Amino acid sequence: MFKKILIANRGEIALRILRASHEMGIHTVAVHSLADHNAMHVRLADESVCIGPAPSRESYLNMHAIISAATISGADAIHPGIGFLSENAEFAAMVEEHGFHFIGPSPEHIALMGDKIQAKNAVKNLGIPVVPGTDQPISNLKDAERWAEEIGYPVLIKAAGGGGGKGMKVVHVKEQLSECLSLAQNEAKACFGNDMVFIEKYLAQPRHIEVQVLADHHGNVVHLGERDCSIQRSHQKVWEEAPSPAIDHETRMKLGGLVVDAVKTLGYRGVGTFEFLYENGEFYFIEMNTRLQVEHPITEMITGIDLVREQIRVAQGEKLGFTQEEIVFRGHAIECRINAEDPETFTPSPGKITDYHAPGGLRVRVDSALYSGYTIPPHYDSLVAKLIVLGNDRETCLMRLNRALREYVIGGVKTTIPLHQLLVNSTAIKAGQYDIHWLESALKKKALAS
Ligand code: ADP
Repeated sequence: MFKKILIANRGEIALRILRASHEMGIHTVAVHSLADHNAMHVRLADESVCIGPAPSRESYLNMHAIISAATISGADAIHPGIGFLSENAEFAAMVEEHGFHFIGPSPEHIALMGDKIQAKNAVKNLGIPVVPGTDQPISNLKDAERWAEEIGYPVLIKAAGGGGGKGMKVVHVKEQLSECLSLAQNEAKACFGNDMVFIEKYLAQPRHIEVQVLADHHGNVVHLGERDCSIQRSHQKVWEEAPSPAIDHETRMKLGGLVVDAVKTLGYRGVGTFEFLYENGEFYFIEMNTRLQVEHPITEMITGIDLVREQIRVAQGEKLGFTQEEIVFRGHAIECRINAEDPETFTPSPGKITDYHAPGGLRVRVDSALYSGYTIPPHYDSLVAKLIVLGNDRETCLMRLNRALREYVIGGVKTTIPLHQLLVNSTAIKAGQYDIHWLESALKKKALAS
């Protein structure tokens, strides 16, 4: 059993992991950059180690510094959190080579799923439907034209190693193809150090629906239902809900069963998420994330299962503590991602928090590392809080969320709370009728809340 876990992350997710560890009686080691010495994850951890200057590549992405911190603190295991090194197969391998447990899947599974082309091919062979597209990288215009013609415009050029919605270009007509191909390749190279791109059909009105899975080392695999993450801006999730307002229980269990079978065949372990686009009653796989997701709390709220605790138990070699039949979905949960950004222009708004009051009450959860007097540094992601609310049904959940958003005070910086206040009151959201393009088009038309 682990005695000490090093958390190779920061912000709310570092706190989330720290909380699960402490509840299990496990000591924690925080790592931090010079910009984060006052951060809440450092304050709450049992120990902390400074791993470098403010820029991520010199601290939170510095593998050698993190391994050294684990060595000097005597940690047994490393939890990578979300983002940073969480989907870096080289890091996972390095952790294990140095004699630590990596709280996540094997480096081989991370590498397989980290390449979207390989991932699509692998799951397609296991009977999972994928978005129509090329099953190999596209490097020249001639091939791109041939494939785009075959798939049918509009098409989407995507980075094979992509993430965070970057390296994606929509091509509506043949004339745009050449420019979009080089733009996508350049963006992929700059963001992911790899200019490999591929082409798939651009779906016009899909929802983003993803399935949470959990697997142990003993061949036991369960799914924990789905999350609907269709409310997006720049291909990034803004608001998530579980269950999806668009599917019924039979569909949920059928899709979940398909994913569980695939995970069993792959021999995958730990938590993972299969992401799908859902259009006209059909699911199309887009990618698998081999880590915890930002939106995991909504699944925890409707199942009562602590996903981080399960991750740690599985990494210790324990068996899953429950079967598929024992998982009960109860109520409806919504998560609002609160960013320190201007709610209209979405430009980052780092700075000092002058007032802080988090909402509370029945079934209201706030995952955040903010506190009054804290200064949000400009170097990292602008996600600063997640407001998660559970209701017996969707209507109760929306009413509770509306109340909680009104209570939430984050003074001194701009946040996206006002955007969520508009969302919770909008007709489309109340009706549960939206697709992945809805938010952007509503923002463009200034049509929110109507
Ligand atoms: P990333 O890894 O960068 O997050 P994903 O492949 O998960 O990229 O896609 C992110 C989002 O981009 C999806 O949730 C969806 O909104 C949009 N998207 C991805 N593929 C398609 C597609 N084929 N058609 C339409 N939208 C897509």
